[in-house]
Amino acid sequence: MMDPNCIFCKICAGEIPSQKVYEDEDLLAFRDINPQAPVHVLVVPKSHFATLAEMDAAQAELLKKCFVRIPHIAQAAGLKDGYRLIINQGKDAGQTVFHLHIHLLGGAPMGEKML
Ligand code: 5GP
Ligand code: ZN
Repeated sequence: MMDPNCIFCKICAGEIPSQKVYEDEDLLAFRDINPQAPVHVLVVPKSHFATLAEMDAAQAELLKKCFVRIPHIAQAAGLKDGYRLIINQGKDAGQTVFHLHIHLLGGAPMGEKML
């Protein structure tokens, strides 16, 4: 399902260009426009849902596929020595795009650690 007002739905549909790292029928991985690490990739299920709280059973299967594919996506993005995954949920976490996405960050040792 697509939300015509959603920027990541438009990226998945090819209506907004992106630097793709990986794509299949269920998910897309593309480079963040404002990278917070030497390698910063966003992994998104193509089916639109804003947060985990809004996810249905079929979308949960797609999210599982995202995680299963992430080691391959990390390799395709050139990450050889590890990476960090972040999923922001809602206002307090600073979520700005309300289409669920997994941040894949790496390419250098992480500095100040939050976790
Ligand atoms: P959030 O803050 O919602 O967890 O993360 C949204 C991310 O999407 C941000 O890191 C932001 O830089 C990225 N972003 C927003 N708009 C675009 C865009 O049009 N293209 C790409 N590649 N990334 C975007
Ligand atoms: Zn969307």
